[in-house]
Amino acid sequence: MKCQETKKHLFDYVLEEIPPELQIQVNEHLAICAECRAESARIGETVTAFKNSVAFKPSPEIFSRVRGQVPLRKPRSARFFGVPRSLVYAFGAFLVGVVMTRSIDTFVAVDDQPVQIEVREEKLREVPYSDTVEFYAVPARNLARI
Ligand SMILES: [Zn+2]
Repeated sequence: MKCQETKKHLFDYVLEEIPPELQIQVNEHLAICAECRAESARIGETVTAFKNSVAFKPSPEIFSRVRGQVPLRKPRSARFFGVPRSLVYAFGAFLVGVVMTRSIDTFVAVDDQPVQIEVREEKLREVPYSDTVEFYAVPARNLARI
């Protein structure tokens, strides 16, 4: 491996994020090339310095000051043309239910035979039978007399 190609992989090599075969090739080059070895050491020192650095944490005072300057919005409830979305969904579900039940009624409750009403007129008996219930139809103008 030549210097130019080695330098391309040096950063990944220091971070140990290269395939083992490539790592062996870089190792072999570093064993014979002082310049690349120095470059690798410099990158290694930089990475170590970053790893050892303390994470920046702002003081609570700074954090509260920044928080006061950033406007925080309240999360709005989901709306659909000004109406809460849950209400729209509930109404939609109701409509779907109505349509489904009406459709089922249309297919299930098919009346093949029309209702036949038999109207018979018989003379009133003088003596009613005891086991018979008779219904009388009376014209509306005669209701007051009954
Ligand atoms: Zn080299």
